[in-house]
Amino acid sequence: MLILNRNYMAIRVTSARRAFSLLYRDLAEVIHIEDGQYLAYDFDTWREVSELKERFEPHEHDWVRTVRFNVAVPRIIRLTLYDRLPRKDVKLNRRNIFARDENHCQYCGKKFTTSELSIDHVVPRSQNGKTTWENVVCCCLACNVRKGGRTPVQAGMALITKPGKPRRSPMINLQLSSHRYRSWKQFLDHAYWSVELK
Ligand SMILES: [Zn+2]
Repeated sequence: MLILNRNYMAIRVTSARRAFSLLYRDLAEVIHIEDGQYLAYDFDTWREVSELKERFEPHEHDWVRTVRFNVAVPRIIRLTLYDRLPRKDVKLNRRNIFARDENHCQYCGKKFTTSELSIDHVVPRSQNGKTTWENVVCCCLACNVRKGGRTPVQAGMALITKPGKPRRSPMINLQLSSHRYRSWKQFLDHAYWSVELK
């Protein structure tokens, strides 16, 4: 789920649980785009809207089911009090590296599930390779074993793409490819064009 700041700028992606806790405490509102119009809902109104959606378009949404009611998971929420700018740095972590490489082994090029992939240091740590965006890639277990503690040149293996730091969270790019998240796009473009350069 995408979080906007008070000025409708995308700041980060969050879990449904975290988003509902913000909504429930009145720190955020749901932004829903219907027929090209932005509609804002507080938590109680969103629950009522959810009842209608559950009846008429249950497959268009993901649902959180509680004992008393079901509520549609919103795709965008806006923090009503927060106007800081988006965090510019993409965190270097396993999840973001896998997302940047789209779960493709950067040596054989095949796509794997997360559990079949490891993180490879292009220049191995044993040869003073650093843990940076430019030196870590997704690697399948077979290629990992084959490469061992060697550089690609030493191992006679080539990288399929040159690793680098993504401009924005690769998790956002992944979600954008799903049509359910199409409504995010204009907020991200807005953020891209309006973030102050330093
Ligand atoms: Zn591989």
